[in-house]
Amino acid sequence: MKYISTRGRAPELSFEEAMLSGLARDGGLYVPAEIPQMSRADIAALAGLSYEESAFRVMRPFVGDSFTDESFGDIIARAYAGFGHGARAPLVQLAPNHFLLELFHGPTLAFKDFAMQLIGQLFEDALKRRGERVTIVGATSGDTGSAAIEAFRGLDAVDVFILFPYGRVSEVQRRQMTTPAEANVHALAVDGNFDDCQARLKDMFNHFDFRDAVRLAGVNSINWARVLAQVVYYFSSAVSLGAPDRKVSFTVPTGNFGDIFAGYIAKRMGLPIDRLVIATNQNDILHRCLSSGDYRKGDVHASISPSMDIEVSSNFERALFDAYDRDGNAIGQLMDELGQGGFNVSQGALQRLREHFDSGRASEAETLATIAAARKTMGELLCPHSAVGVKVAEEHRDPATPMITLATAHPAKFPDAVEKASGQRPGLPQRMADLYERAERVTRVPNDLAALETHIREKIAS
Ligand SMILES: *Cc1c(COP(=O)(O)O)cnc(C)c1O
Repeated sequence: MKYISTRGRAPELSFEEAMLSGLARDGGLYVPAEIPQMSRADIAALAGLSYEESAFRVMRPFVGDSFTDESFGDIIARAYAGFGHGARAPLVQLAPNHFLLELFHGPTLAFKDFAMQLIGQLFEDALKRRGERVTIVGATSGDTGSAAIEAFRGLDAVDVFILFPYGRVSEVQRRQMTTPAEANVHALAVDGNFDDCQARLKDMFNHFDFRDAVRLAGVNSINWARVLAQVVYYFSSAVSLGAPDRKVSFTVPTGNFGDIFAGYIAKRMGLPIDRLVIATNQNDILHRCLSSGDYRKGDVHASISPSMDIEVSSNFERALFDAYDRDGNAIGQLMDELGQGGFNVSQGALQRLREHFDSGRASEAETLATIAAARKTMGELLCPHSAVGVKVAEEHRDPATPMITLATAHPAKFPDAVEKASGQRPGLPQRMADLYERAERVTRVPNDLAALETHIREKIAS
């Protein structure tokens, strides 16, 4: 299995190489050269399997010979062993034909654990085999950083540095990043906002001397291995509701388009998915684009669903690549235009996107109202991101087709918004009830590239 860049000017790589490098050197994103197919019989055979067994069957064809069957199976087993629910991704029913896919039973209570736990084990296995070490640096508005630290803590072949905006993440998110005591974990509070953190990270990747000297690696949501890990729960949940004999639709709270793009891959592999509904908060570039064809950056407005406060959606490039018949030159040109502020999707490409995707948005007031209503009529406490999804799903639901809305975080990760909306303060699950008592370890750093690089070099040398 070979991976190609969406901009068509980077070398083809194996799964393992694409995973270890993250971003392609031409600025593009890696995608599989071909999408492996699952037949109806293959899909039907997933019924009744454990999450781990389904994960093995769905992901195996993408991984090629980088990993043996045995080691890949062990990696999957280790990745999901720390989840707090035997089903890993359980479905609960909200209303007639409307289901919630709970993706928040991992160690940091957000769906990012599904991908990050797997990628941690894949990195460790690959690097040990190659006798290499890497430095992972990530920027986070909260959930990615905590999931990455949890996945890489204590691993031998990796140092992990996470940049987060000082004072702008929730207390639970901060504590999840600052309380792990392992020496290879480094939480860095940057004097700036999330965009600053992301910009400094990009600067490091573009500073090739530094990048090569510390063996910089990235695990943000453009890493193909993360998308792949998320394909699995589309299969497992659809099969629970009768696939391949019955079609289902999904609504996905979206920021960087990684999670919903995984649903699109599941559909391309043969899973009978009717609609994939993009749900955005007030930062609605994707909804605007699907509605009008105009993909133009707006200002980012802080919301109560902060993990979706994004106005440039990195993984959308992968969907555009297919919508433009995999023409890397066309994508390169669009991304240049985006640098100037935005672009118009061609009529043909827009039509192709609309064959798969619908879209909707939820305002802050609608999000709060949905949390309150779900608490009242379904007895379900939703996190604000999941509430955005439920609101948009209700607007797009067709009574004949089961709708599965992805619940992307546990309500206890965003207790203030949930309490404000519902009057009920969600408690942390038992297994992490002492989070507020654990000692914190964090370094405050200026929003300055040279200072950050010096800090990282000193830490990995010691
Ligand atoms: C990251 C995140 C999202 C958005 O996921 P994308 O893959 O970026 O679309 C939604 N909800 C929560 C809780 C998240 O952490």
